[in-house]
Amino acid sequence: MALTIDRMEIDDAGQDPEKLAISITKQIPENGKSIPVREISTAIGIYEIREEILDGLEGALIAPESKSEGAILVHSERQESRKRFTIAHEIGHYVNPTHRSSSPDGFRCSSTDMKISSFKPGDRHAKMEMEANQFAIKLLLPESRVRAFLRNRPGIDLEHILAISDSFEVSREATARRYIERLDEPVAVVFSQNGKIRYIIRNGSFPRLSVWNGAAIPSDCLSSKSNKEIGEVTEVVETIGHLWLAKSADISLGEQTVLQREGFRMTLLTIEETGSDETQWEAPSFKR
Ligand SMILES: [Zn+2]
Repeated sequence: MALTIDRMEIDDAGQDPEKLAISITKQIPENGKSIPVREISTAIGIYEIREEILDGLEGALIAPESKSEGAILVHSERQESRKRFTIAHEIGHYVNPTHRSSSPDGFRCSSTDMKISSFKPGDRHAKMEMEANQFAIKLLLPESRVRAFLRNRPGIDLEHILAISDSFEVSREATARRYIERLDEPVAVVFSQNGKIRYIIRNGSFPRLSVWNGAAIPSDCLSSKSNKEIGEVTEVVETIGHLWLAKSADISLGEQTVLQREGFRMTLLTIEETGSDETQWEAPSFKR
């Protein structure tokens, strides 16, 4: 049976990206499957999702100003999780009443646009791209479903990120962002390739790291020494804070890592124990 979505519910949600996403996901039956972005598109008037090789773009939305119908273009040479994110992003432009394309060719979204998470005052383009990204992540990883998924998975664990990523068909990186933003405990995730840091994400309360994008992973840490196979997540190992942190004091970290294909690696850092030193940082409470 085809999915039906009441567009009135979407119209009532206004312009807030998360409310718009919820107005859709609450109409989708929970059947343990990932959010069906293609079926959603069809149900809200997208008459075509065309996959083709796009030059300099990840995706595009072509729709009249009324947005009564539209078409989505997606870069064909991408993994399915990436295509799903792009489709969700374009739906974000489509359902947001404040989004207007500046080009007669519609919304044209690059891979840089798909990463925009802030904007400067007056930068309308960046604001729309950020909102489309916020919408996409909340559509693909709805809070209620993520919470239900984690109900029987206590603690903080890299395995959770991998399991959510697989089950919800969302990239590891987007999943990691979503995973750490909803934690109260301080956490950082380091993305690297062949021993070199690509970038680091951390939630608000995690102390500043002593390493930066482009730098090598600290040579004495687990992420440098682990010889586990691709996809095999390590145990959480206690690591002295000064390997990773700018102001380590007596903090000891929990470090857990997994090697992915092509030398990519993800490292999860948690705070295991804080010292008695006067750090500018408050000890958190732990659930593990
Ligand atoms: Zn866009």
